[in-house]
Amino acid sequence: MARRPMMAANWKMNKLISEAEEYVEGLLPRISDAHEGVDVAIFAPFTCLGAVARMTQDTPVLVGAQNFYYEDSGAFTGEVSAPMLKDLGAGAVVIGHSERREIFGETDEAVALKAARAVEAGLLPIICVGETKEERDAGKMWEKVGAQVRAVFEQLDAQQIGGGAIVFAYEPVWAIGTGESATPEDAQEAIGKIRDLLREIGGEDFAREVRILYGGSIKADNVDEIIAQEDVDGGLVGGASLEVDTFAKLVNGASKPRE
Ligand code: PEP
Repeated sequence: MARRPMMAANWKMNKLISEAEEYVEGLLPRISDAHEGVDVAIFAPFTCLGAVARMTQDTPVLVGAQNFYYEDSGAFTGEVSAPMLKDLGAGAVVIGHSERREIFGETDEAVALKAARAVEAGLLPIICVGETKEERDAGKMWEKVGAQVRAVFEQLDAQQIGGGAIVFAYEPVWAIGTGESATPEDAQEAIGKIRDLLREIGGEDFAREVRILYGGSIKADNVDEIIAQEDVDGGLVGGASLEVDTFAKLVNGASKPRE
């Protein structure tokens, strides 16, 4: 069975509750025909997650957080747990975004623990991996990305969870928020290698089922070519997801059958 594409909005640290509500109200009618062909997800800040989840509860839109902590409760000041996310109506969570890895020091080990806890709690983790510009220029893209993917399976048993339980997002750090996206060929090369590694780790069916998104300066004028690549199953979109019109166009474009 073909993998269903996903178009996911990562709002990062943007939008007050009123702005989030206005956005969702504007988005839903614009994407109502798209659900047959694409899964749509919104990753909102914690503060407006409840409002977005409430407004989308009778729709196919998946709502998620941008981070969480892998313990369920206790003395972890400032953190939010999987049960708390579920309590708000979240069904998914972004894990290991490069901004969390680079600015907040999130390690491969923490990312793996979060991925395992998310799956166990019934949240769909979107696990982000990607290399820096220096690593790419030094020919170390795969050394970095391959190690990040492998680390996840220190905590997750591929055979046990099945390929539908997780999503990866290949997000080259140099392409995030820079306006400089990877070429479709670069995206396919990295994502194809991730799929090969998933095959090695979890077998053919597992590798065939896991969705792998591309993220990094996706816009209306580069999205078609990128998501037309064989192994690319959609996009994780930052900047271009902040305006309803732009994100609706990306969603509707992704729902068209692939050539
Ligand atoms: C992201 O935040 O995951 C992202 C890909 O951002 P942008 O689309 O702005 O590059």
